[in-house]
Amino acid sequence: MDKYNDRETIQKTTFWSTFFDKTKDGKSIFSYRMKRWILVISFHLFFFLSFFIDLQMLEGSLSGSRFLGFHMIDPFVTIQVFLSTYHLPINMIIGTVTILILYLLVGGRSYCAWVCPYGILSEIGEKWHNTLVSKKIIKERKFDHRVRHIFWAIFLALSFVSGYLVFETFNVVGIMSRMIVYGWSVAFIWVVVVFAMEVFFSRRAWCTYICPVGTTYGYLGKASALRIEWNDNCDHCMVCHDVCFENQVLEITKAKYDKQREEKNIKKEYITGADCTLCARCIDVCHADALKFGFRLKGLV
Ligand code: SF4
Ligand code: SF4
Repeated sequence: MDKYNDRETIQKTTFWSTFFDKTKDGKSIFSYRMKRWILVISFHLFFFLSFFIDLQMLEGSLSGSRFLGFHMIDPFVTIQVFLSTYHLPINMIIGTVTILILYLLVGGRSYCAWVCPYGILSEIGEKWHNTLVSKKIIKERKFDHRVRHIFWAIFLALSFVSGYLVFETFNVVGIMSRMIVYGWSVAFIWVVVVFAMEVFFSRRAWCTYICPVGTTYGYLGKASALRIEWNDNCDHCMVCHDVCFENQVLEITKAKYDKQREEKNIKKEYITGADCTLCARCIDVCHADALKFGFRLKGLV
């Protein structure tokens, strides 16, 4: 991508080009998308090697793992276990607290962009979806993203009444994570169904409207230290809105808020919306350098 000389909307850029960015002096560098993909693939390579050659570095899967002996448990799994069994083993509590502290520091739904293996598939599906929409083969369908909170409550209620971790049957993150480590399973058919829904029906529908794992991390993200920081270099070109699948969180980039900001002399603001995955696609495409990662630790303590 060459964001300083071009508007890098999804439609204009090839998927491959989004893995590289050009600096102002024309040097080609890895984009955040490339860095995220490298990290996601590395995590799963370590999961695989820990099982396959007994590396004992990162064992288990994303639902529950051990990193160098430290337990890590997905918080949504923990809540489901508690509601279905009324009991939490001590290792589970320790593993969940570790994850809570980690994501309170590094941004809540950053899990979706920097850890989740389905996120990679979903980004490919997003490009295909947008191509089909631009060719008028399918229609763009949008729903109220707040429906995710209803799904979150429904899956927890199902655990409570059934005594089983019902969502884990449908959890594309868990299915993919286990499949990468332990091999193929018939459950992968469900991942294909979800992927097809995102390509042919609605842009990144699973991540935006359904996945309670992401919703749980989003709740953490509201209070987390690492956020995207906006500054008044912004000229409201709206390219960030185009590439962001949760672009309701980018409301502050709109020109209509300039007057209020001028009155209060606000030069920078954090994007605090729980739905932001810190994927940094917006940073990758912002030609005005109006977006970057920022720690709001000072403001929180
Ligand atoms: S933040 Fe950057 S990409 Fe977004 S509207 Fe402002 S200038 Fe455009
Ligand atoms: S605001 Fe930026 S970092 Fe957050 S989800 Fe949108 S594109 Fe990704």
